[in-house]
Amino acid sequence: MPETPSNFCTGEWSELQFAWDSTSFREAMTCWRRYYYRIVKGYVRDTAKWDLDWGRYYHIGMDALHTGIAKGLDRDAALVVALRMMMMTAGDSPAEGDRFGKRMRWKPWDPDPEWRHYNKKNRSTLIRALIWYCEALPPEDAPPVVFEDGTIATELSFRIPLARRVPDDGYAAAHGDLSRAYVLCGHFDGLARYGAETFIRESKTTKSTIGSYYFDQFKPNVQIDIYALAASVLYPDTVSGILIEACQTAVGFTRFDREPIRHTPARLDEIAVNLTTLIAQAEINAKSGYWPMNTTACDQYGGCPYRPVCRKSPSLRQKFLDDGIGKVRYIKDPWNPLEER
Ligand code: SF4
Repeated sequence: MPETPSNFCTGEWSELQFAWDSTSFREAMTCWRRYYYRIVKGYVRDTAKWDLDWGRYYHIGMDALHTGIAKGLDRDAALVVALRMMMMTAGDSPAEGDRFGKRMRWKPWDPDPEWRHYNKKNRSTLIRALIWYCEALPPEDAPPVVFEDGTIATELSFRIPLARRVPDDGYAAAHGDLSRAYVLCGHFDGLARYGAETFIRESKTTKSTIGSYYFDQFKPNVQIDIYALAASVLYPDTVSGILIEACQTAVGFTRFDREPIRHTPARLDEIAVNLTTLIAQAEINAKSGYWPMNTTACDQYGGCPYRPVCRKSPSLRQKFLDDGIGKVRYIKDPWNPLEER
């Protein structure tokens, strides 16, 4: 497998990111110090990730389901293939135990449903979600687009240049690339035909109730805005917007709903300006070596994982990131938007 290129500049600009995705922008918008710890330095809390795994396996199942529909399977046949694919990836079989393409020691994914934290996200709710999705939102109502060459439009990675040049970090001289621009990158779940229009499909999972209040969180939303901007560049005159397909998983039921989200050309222009303005701020931070703290964000989203560090005196923070604080531990898990899925 080819080595993933770094998403950072070189030399004196080694803390300046040139390939940005929605996760990077979200961290930057929340708090520049948080962005620095997570994206620049790559520290994450060493906590169980089974909750996140549920969403990843669900996406794998959905991808297989839509691919089966595009290949002409009927709904039940596509569902069987998708369930098998999803549970094999989740570690049902030692022979197939492959975690997102990275071979690892076989270990079945089996969070304990009796434990309060996993009573909504476990193996049985994962299987139920895929089966109930087919009943609630028939996949043939929003089938994947098939390109002219026969490729099914699922799991699409994108990289597009932004209208801002990267500062001279020595890369241009070394590689003869004099027009190096910042890159906006990410992954679409796929393109779907819905009604008479084409949309970027975005599957979301949540434990919250799905309703107008739930969908309002995506209007505006950094990830959805970036997808809309990228789609307007990659598929001009083709894509009408983003089709959110939401899955609410609860202990005794799973609920689904779809909602298309559209952006006007003026909104897309504003999003592009907003992104490059944030990057300009990142240049200032990288040059000065100071990443401002936004202490109004410390208690958002269930609490910032870096609060134990930020409470400490500045001179002690690096030691706490490396060695931990009490039971809190941080590990290095660099975020690289250029990594292939
Ligand atoms: S604890 Fe607050 S200041 Fe520190 S990184 Fe998190 S949000 Fe920023």
